[in-house]
Amino acid sequence: MSKRLRSSEVCADCSGPDPSWASVNRGTFICDECCSVHRSLGRHISQVRHLKHTPWPPTLLQMVETLYNNGANSIWEHSLLDPASILSGRRKANPQDKVHPNKAEFIRAKYQMLAFVHRLPCRDDDSVTAKDLSKQLHSSVRTGNLETCLRLLSLGAQANFLHPEKGNTPLHVASKAGQILQAELLAVYGADPGTQDSNGKTPVDYARQGGHHELAERLVEIQYELTDRLAFYLCGRKPDHKNGQHFIIPQMADSSLDLSELAKAAKKKLQSLSNHLFEELAMDVYDEVDRRETDAVWLATQNHSTLVTETTVVPFLPVNPEYSSTRNQGRQKLARFNAHEFATLVIDILSDAKRRQQGSPLCGSKDSVELILKTISTQHSTESPNNDQPDYDSVASDEDPDADTTASRASRQKLLGKDAN
Ligand SMILES: [Zn+2]
Repeated sequence: MSKRLRSSEVCADCSGPDPSWASVNRGTFICDECCSVHRSLGRHISQVRHLKHTPWPPTLLQMVETLYNNGANSIWEHSLLDPASILSGRRKANPQDKVHPNKAEFIRAKYQMLAFVHRLPCRDDDSVTAKDLSKQLHSSVRTGNLETCLRLLSLGAQANFLHPEKGNTPLHVASKAGQILQAELLAVYGADPGTQDSNGKTPVDYARQGGHHELAERLVEIQYELTDRLAFYLCGRKPDHKNGQHFIIPQMADSSLDLSELAKAAKKKLQSLSNHLFEELAMDVYDEVDRRETDAVWLATQNHSTLVTETTVVPFLPVNPEYSSTRNQGRQKLARFNAHEFATLVIDILSDAKRRQQGSPLCGSKDSVELILKTISTQHSTESPNNDQPDYDSVASDEDPDADTTASRASRQKLLGKDAN
């Protein structure tokens, strides 16, 4: 959308001028200061992207713009619109408010506690309510009304809900109807374009069948988003899905370390992880890539004379209370990998993701190997306390009640690099 339109927009949290970031999953535009608070809360609360300096899939940006311009922010500030809330002293943050504590407290109440979201009158049985909301979502996605769907998702509707009578998910419905922005929103909330309906068909199949070619291509991209992002991080390029290439496996220009026995053993251990644990690790690495890239954008776009950047950089992945403490510790340790170690881990994840998807032996295929020549040397990272190669080991499942044993902590520690002692 035009810059002219955007310049008249204000930060969704403090009404400050010229918001330059977006919160993708909240459908809002926010200013630098408020963005620093969003980042400190973690991606499970807010997924931020810079409006100019982060590369956007065009329809994803269009989705966020549509939401914001249609008042999606009122979903998160519903009860503040009630005149009675003014009497009670509750109010939005102001541009002049201090980031800490004023803006930060407001933003935490708004997005983390959902303190101002409209509550449903009856919440006796959460599972029934969620099912009902999911059914509403299922029928709403065939229209272009994004705010309704975001409202339903904010109240607990499930993006991957398999409708018991219709045998399909909201993404199947949106794809059939050619609703590309709805598909973007559902994907942000975790909808899987590879899910089969009761006829064995995926949303991609329906998009193609309906002649919605842009949507079909975008759904394939979304399916490979995790590995595409990892590849792009290392070599600045994404696979050519249209021509059937789904993976790029970069190689280190300096590959002497990768050929070591230790690295080979580490790869083998990564391969022995269950699919579930492998997916968790891959998602954690994705979050870490996002943290490093967003930090780089943050540092490049800040006015260093007016902001203390040390306090606004996010030093490691914020805690996600839905994850076990073991997993949260492992996620935080990813920040201690130096650029070379982290690149090695990312390459191993990419290789193994490809192997798991294609069932092919791990030997590096010729068509998709790319040398990393420059990117990693410029990555922002801290020095590792030692020179150990990343060492993968099997870890207990986080769903396992016994997961937090010394043994699994030790193996998780081993997995993500050892302590300096
Ligand atoms: Zn703001």
